[in-house]
Amino acid sequence: MGLEQVMIETEVQVKPEKKTVEPVESRVVIQLEHIHKIYQTGDIEVHALRGVSLNVHEGEFVAIMGTSGSGKSTMMNIIGCLDRPTRGRYILDGEDVSELSKDDRADIRNKRIGFVFQGFNLLSRTSALENCELPMIYAGIPAHERTERAMEALHSVGLQGREYNHPNQLSGGQQQRVAVARALVNRPSIILADEPTGNLDSRTSVEVMEIFQRLNREKKMTIVVVTHEPDIAQYSKRVVVFKDGKIKRDYQVQDRLDAREQLEAMAAQPQEEDDDDE
Ligand code: ADP
Ligand code: MG
Repeated sequence: MGLEQVMIETEVQVKPEKKTVEPVESRVVIQLEHIHKIYQTGDIEVHALRGVSLNVHEGEFVAIMGTSGSGKSTMMNIIGCLDRPTRGRYILDGEDVSELSKDDRADIRNKRIGFVFQGFNLLSRTSALENCELPMIYAGIPAHERTERAMEALHSVGLQGREYNHPNQLSGGQQQRVAVARALVNRPSIILADEPTGNLDSRTSVEVMEIFQRLNREKKMTIVVVTHEPDIAQYSKRVVVFKDGKIKRDYQVQDRLDAREQLEAMAAQPQEEDDDDE
């Protein structure tokens, strides 16, 4: 509740076009130029993106907001090389990837991008460790190194001791942390997360945002998170709002929240209604 209050006040005070947070010399890693995406299903055409241009610099932390159906996931799929634009150019790390074949896109994706989804997308019959090893099998990393890196990634998200648990033996928050660890093992420079806290309670959501903030701060990872929750967006550095397949607003976050501080504050308070997620 206190948070919402802060949000409302921030919203009022926001100076929309203040763009001084990122140093000018930092590299553009994601460059979208006049992107259109038209889905064709039978006779029906859906114009999901209508001329989206966006630059994201190395080390930025961007929250994508907007109502359902406004094109957020479509844009994330293009940024993540899961899909191609119908028109327009996409330059990733200086390379035009708009026209690449499926295999080449898969290759780039595997090396440079880590994905986190709302539904975790873990394999249910395999352990946390094996889930994290999987992307490295595709990347051709030798077995002993796979295990080592997967262990390291699980530890970095606070899951030491849970390596051999299957997803159904983990809470929602722990499953999402496995998914974050899995996104990290190929050492991507970009993390893309589509509603990563959509299935989590508020405390667990802050835990996930703490990991993202830490990766952004310590490893200079570029992070793009889709969320419909204003208080989750408040952990990012910049907010981009979509409407009807276009960017409607783009502003730097004022009074950014620090997830680490929030967790410490929560730990200091007696736990009230704590459901299944720890
Ligand atoms: P958001 O993530 O903001 O909710 P989406 O990007 O998923 O929005 O969808 C944008 C529009 O494109 C919606 O009208 C949706 O129904 C349509 N759409 C998304 N994916 C497909 C698809 N694979 N085939 C056809 N239409 C799609
Ligand atoms: Mg979506």
